[in-house]
Amino acid sequence: MNRRQRVCVLGSTGSIGVNTLDVIARHPERYEVVALSAMSRVDELLAQCLQWKPRFAVMPEREAAARLRERLREAGSHTEVLDGAAALVDIAAHPNVDTVMAAIVGAAGLAPAIAAARAGKRLLLANKEAIVVGGALFMHAVEEGGATLLPIDSEHSAIFQCLPEDRTTWHQRIDHIVLTASGGPFRTRDPKTLADVTPEQACAHPNWVMGRKISVDSATMMNKALEVIEARWLFNLAPDQIKVLIHPQSIIHSMVVCRDQSVLAQLGTPDMRVPIAYGLSFPERITSGASRLDLLTTPSLTFEEADAVRFPGLHLSWQALRGAEGSTTVLNAANEVAVDAFLNGRLRFDRIHAINSQCLADVQPGDCASIEALLDLDARTRAHALRLL
Ligand code: NAD
Ligand code: MG
Repeated sequence: MNRRQRVCVLGSTGSIGVNTLDVIARHPERYEVVALSAMSRVDELLAQCLQWKPRFAVMPEREAAARLRERLREAGSHTEVLDGAAALVDIAAHPNVDTVMAAIVGAAGLAPAIAAARAGKRLLLANKEAIVVGGALFMHAVEEGGATLLPIDSEHSAIFQCLPEDRTTWHQRIDHIVLTASGGPFRTRDPKTLADVTPEQACAHPNWVMGRKISVDSATMMNKALEVIEARWLFNLAPDQIKVLIHPQSIIHSMVVCRDQSVLAQLGTPDMRVPIAYGLSFPERITSGASRLDLLTTPSLTFEEADAVRFPGLHLSWQALRGAEGSTTVLNAANEVAVDAFLNGRLRFDRIHAINSQCLADVQPGDCASIEALLDLDARTRAHALRLL
C-alpha cells in the first residue's frame, strides 16, 4: 500500500476504541489516525488527541466539546474539535477518511455507521446495535455506497474468516452457522438467585473485558440475541440457519457448517485485537498483539446447550427476526433502556427480559424505510419501556 489508511475511530475511549488504537500503534507505516470521538470522557479523549495528533476530535455534547477545545488549545494542539450530533455523521463520511471504526455503543451509532456506508468507506463494524436497528436499510446503504463492511464482533469475524472473499458464493456454501457463546458470568449460577445480581457482578465477565452495556448483555445472553440478528444481515441468512452453542472457554470463536457438513471454525485466544487487526488489514494479515494459542496448555474445549430458563432473552432474536420488519429495532431499544435501568439500580437483573419481551409484544413497528423512521421507532419503544419500568 502506497498511502497510509486514514482511520476515524468513533468511540475511541471505549474498550474497542482503545484496542483499535493499540493495533494501529503497532503499524504506524500503514495507518494514520485522522479523527477520534467520544461521548463524555474529556480527559481520556484529550490524552488520545495529544498522543495521536488527529486532524479532528468529535464530541457530540457541546459543553464537553468546549472543555476539550480549551484543553487542547492550552496544550498547543492543532486538533480541531467538532461538536453536535451531526458532527459524527459528517466525520464518518469525510473525504479525508478511508476507514471508519464504528465502536460507539447502542443505537446512537446508527446514523454515523450508515453515513460511512453510504460514503463507501471501509467500515469496521463493532457497534452491533447499529446493524440490529438498521437491518435492511443498513445493508442497502452498504451496497449503494459500495462500502467494504468488515465485522469486528469476534463471532462474526470468525464466520467471515471461514468464508471465501467472494461473497456471491456464500449462499451456495452455507448450510448454517454456529455462534459460540461463553455463557457469561452466570452460566452455572442458580437461576433462582438471579434477582440479586448487582451491576458489578454482571460486568465481571470470565473471558473478556468490555464496556458495561455489552457486559450486561453477555450476562443475560441478550448479546448473543443481538449477534444472531447481526449475523442474519451480515451473511444474509434465514433465522433458522443461525444456531447458538455455549462454549465456556471462548477459544472457538464461531463455526460455519457447509452444505457437505464440513465444519470450518476459527480459533484463537480471546482478544479483540485479532478481529480488529483483520478488519484493518483485510485481505492481508498483520500482527495484532494477541498472545499465541497454545493448545497443549488450553483446557478442554466443552460445549453446552443454552439454558432457556436461565437465558430467556436468547430466543427473542428469532422471534424478532420472524416478526414484522422493525421488530429488531424494538427489541434493541427496549434492551438499551432495561440495561441502563439495571446499571442505575432501577431494575432487577431478572426483569430485563420482562421489559424486552413486553415491548416486543406491545410496540407496533410501522414504517422502517428511513433512518428517521427507525429512530422514531427507537424513541417510541424507549418511551414505552420507560413507562413499563
Ligand atoms: P464502551 O462503553 O467501552 O465504549 C463506548 C464508546 O462509545 C466510548 O468511547 C463512548 O464515549 C462512546 N459513546 C457512548 N455513547 C455514545 C453516544 N451516544 N454518542 C457518541 N459516542 C458514544 O463500549 P465497547 O465495549 O467498546 O463496545 C462498543 C461497541 O462494540 C458496542 O456496540 C459493543 O456491543 C461492540 N462490541 C464490543 C466488544 C468488546 O469486547 N468490548 C466486542 C464485540 C462487540
Ligand atoms: Mg461477540
